[in-house]
This record gives sequence, structure tokens and C-alpha cells, in this order.
Amino acid sequence: DGSFPYARSPPDKLLGGLLPDGLDERSCRSRYESSMYNRKPARRPSPHLIAKLRRHEELQRRCGPNTDAYSRAVQQLRAGKSVDSPECKYVVSISHRGLGNRILAAASAFLYAHRHRRELRQHAEEQGAQRRRADDGDAAAGVRIPPPRPRLRRRGQDVLLRRRPAAAVERAVAGHEDRHVHRDGAVPGHGVPGGARHAVPGARRRVPPPGAVPVPPTQPRLGPRHAVLPRVLARAELRLGVQLRHFDSWAQQSPIVLRQITSCLWREKLLPEVLDTEEHSMPMPGGGARTTAVLVTSLQSWYYERIKGMYWDHATATGEDVSVHQPSHEGNQEYGKKSHDERAWAEMYLLSLCDVLVTSGWSTFGYVAQGLGGMTPWVLHKPTNVTSPPDPPCFWDMSMEPCFHAPHAYDCKLKRGADTGKMVPHVRNCEDVSWGLKLV
Ligand code: GDP
Repeated sequence: DGSFPYARSPPDKLLGGLLPDGLDERSCRSRYESSMYNRKPARRPSPHLIAKLRRHEELQRRCGPNTDAYSRAVQQLRAGKSVDSPECKYVVSISHRGLGNRILAAASAFLYAHRHRRELRQHAEEQGAQRRRADDGDAAAGVRIPPPRPRLRRRGQDVLLRRRPAAAVERAVAGHEDRHVHRDGAVPGHGVPGGARHAVPGARRRVPPPGAVPVPPTQPRLGPRHAVLPRVLARAELRLGVQLRHFDSWAQQSPIVLRQITSCLWREKLLPEVLDTEEHSMPMPGGGARTTAVLVTSLQSWYYERIKGMYWDHATATGEDVSVHQPSHEGNQEYGKKSHDERAWAEMYLLSLCDVLVTSGWSTFGYVAQGLGGMTPWVLHKPTNVTSPPDPPCFWDMSMEPCFHAPHAYDCKLKRGADTGKMVPHVRNCEDVSWGLKLV
């Protein structure tokens, strides 16, 4: 309802030219208002970026849905041909896995489309929730292609890609797949940023595959439980986001992992330690104790309950007031369920509003929150030992960029495997996923 207590008038409604002028503001309020809910000052977009965005919008108007060029392209693809228009070229993003993976894939595809002056289409089937919202008249509509006709699964094909996306698009690039379709390398059991394939129909030019780059999406719709949290968080002087993601089942309820979390929070002085006694501390003279709100996100509630209990039962060494909150505990990751995805999105967004962020290594869910909030996080090492926590328990990341888990590791000139983390400046191996790459 726009009445978050810390909502301010935006100093610049168009965010330094990031948003185009002249649109109907009521068609998408979050586009104009979401920046008001962030305490951190926004970065100013460069004139170069703004010029590129305007050019891309123009491309979208010329080549997007409801244009002759678009109808022609769809007809050609349906007939199994390449798109022959020199002015309108398309990139189709086909993403899978969880929401974090899909958001990173969409952001990467957007940047890629930008870079190569192509109109971006998001494959509709995997984006069911977005599509339904789009059908309700949401302005997020814009990027979608019709779902493919169902097909038989080929033997040996990745189950996640079973529903053959945009078969016509793929036929159109058949024979050029290695050059034009970027497949992520599957890392067993884990989400992979850039969990997507980008088909580039109508292209015979060699184009480099996209990597993972964060671009802030729009503000989520908050459910009632999620909606009260911004108010709670707003009252606190310090907002600490703790994103917990456990890929191994033993780590979902483990005293060892709990020790890892608390030792990270205490060692790095992100939270005050609790006193051994059950007595509550005396309020600081003048009532000046700092208030800290901790936002925990996790599929489970086990860690939340323990951390909350700890601060409920014990005084803090500094007399600080610490409250602990968790908006949801979904139990398991689910696929294709709109309400589940919306909660996940709301939580990424709430994490992004925090002042300090602790994330779980390997998780694209955390990468999205840090990218959206423009924050370099503290990262909990992925626990591997059931009897002792990693030492150190966490590290301060190199940058707020996401880690791309499946980069190519091949030097094309030397024709042999290469350490891609050392090839160009500003791209390094990640600390959480040692073979992954990130911008620094
Ligand atoms: P990754 O697997 O950690 O890289 O992140 P993804 O976002 O790609 O996939 C994990 C999915 O599990 C999310 O999209 C959610 O559906 C669910 N999930 C994981 N952690 C949380 C959480 O803290 N809160 C909520 N609401 N959902 C979560």
C-alpha cells in the first residue's frame, strides 16, 4: 500500500534516466517505488547504459510481440526455418532449476541480448508464474514465446530439459547448437547459476555464450506474513539478513552447522554474543542499546528456532536488543508452484533490503539477494564435515557479483584445459565454488 514507514519520496523518480519517461506509472507502481524501500543509496546509471537501454527499448518496439517482424519470425521458426530478418534477431532464454538460477539466467540473457542487439524472449513454459501474472495484465509481460508442442523424451536427455523447450527454435539452430546454444554443465545436486540455455535463432555468426550478471528485477508482491516484515525490519537500527541453504540433508538440522553459523556471526561481530546466564541484561543507561533485527531465510525452521531461542533466553554481552524473524519455512524446494516461487522471491527481496548479509556458499538464491541489494556478503562455507564446522566458518566475499558455477575451462588458442580464473583481469575463481568464476 506504499505506506512502509521508511518509504521516502524518491529524489529522482526515473532513477537517473534508468526508467524511460512517459509511461503510465499506474501500470507498474513498483517500477517507480521499489527503490524507496532501500536504505542504501542507489548507484547512478552511466549515460552509456542509459543510451543502450533506450536503444534496446526501441528494438523491442520494432521486433517484439504485435509487430510484423515478430509474427514473421514466429512463422519462420514454426516452419523449421531460420529467422531471415537482418533487423530483428532474437535470443530465447530457456531456464530451469530454482528461482535464483532462473533469475540469474534471465539477467544474463538480458545482458547478452543487449550486447548483441537481439530481442529477448523468455521461454514461457518454465516461466509459468510469470506468464500467469502477465496474463493478468502485469507489465512484466513482454518476454515470452509460445510453449512447444509436447514431444517424446529422447534417451539420455537431461530430465530437467525433458519438456523440449521451443522445439521449433531448436530446430532452427540445429547444426549450430554448439555455437549458439549455451548449455550449462550440470553440477550434481546443486543449483547452477546461468541454469539456462540461450538459443539464438537466425544466427550464423559466432557469438560468445552468456555468463551470469545481476540486473535488479522488479519488486515482488508480498504476502501478508512477508508484508509485515519490512515494518519490523524498518524499526531496527541494524538489519542483518542470514540466508541459509543446505544442500546435504544432514546439514538441515545439525548442531555443528549451528555452531558454524553462530561462530561466523560472533567472530565477525555481526551479532553480539549471548551471556551464559539466563538473566536479562540491564538496559543501557539512557536507553541507548542498539536494536538489531535478524532476518533468517531457509527452507527449514530449525536454525531459526535455535537462534531465536538463544537471544530470547539469554542476555547479550553488549546489552543490545536482538530480534530474530523468519518469514516462511517451506520444507522442500518445489517446482512450478506460483505461491512457492513468490515467497522465495519476496525473501530474496527482503534480504536485499538488509544492511548486512550472510549467505550460504553455492546458493544462487543468495547471489540474487546480494546482487539486488548491491551488497558484498559474508559467505558461510558449505559444511562438509559432520563432526566439526569449517574453520574459518565464513569469509567476506570478493564482490557482490554471483559466482558462475559452470564456466568453460579450455584455452582455445592452446587447445588445452586452462585456469580460466587467471586469464583476464576482474574475473577470478570464486571462493565458495573453486572452479567457478566471478567478476571482482
Ligand atoms: P539454489 O538452489 O540455492 O542455487 O537456489 P535456487 O533459487 O535456484 O533454488 C532453490 C529454491 O528452493 C528456491 O527458488 C526456492 O524455491 C526454494 N528455497 C530455497 N531456500 C529458500 C528460502 O530460504 N526461502 C524460500 N521461501 N524458498 C527457498
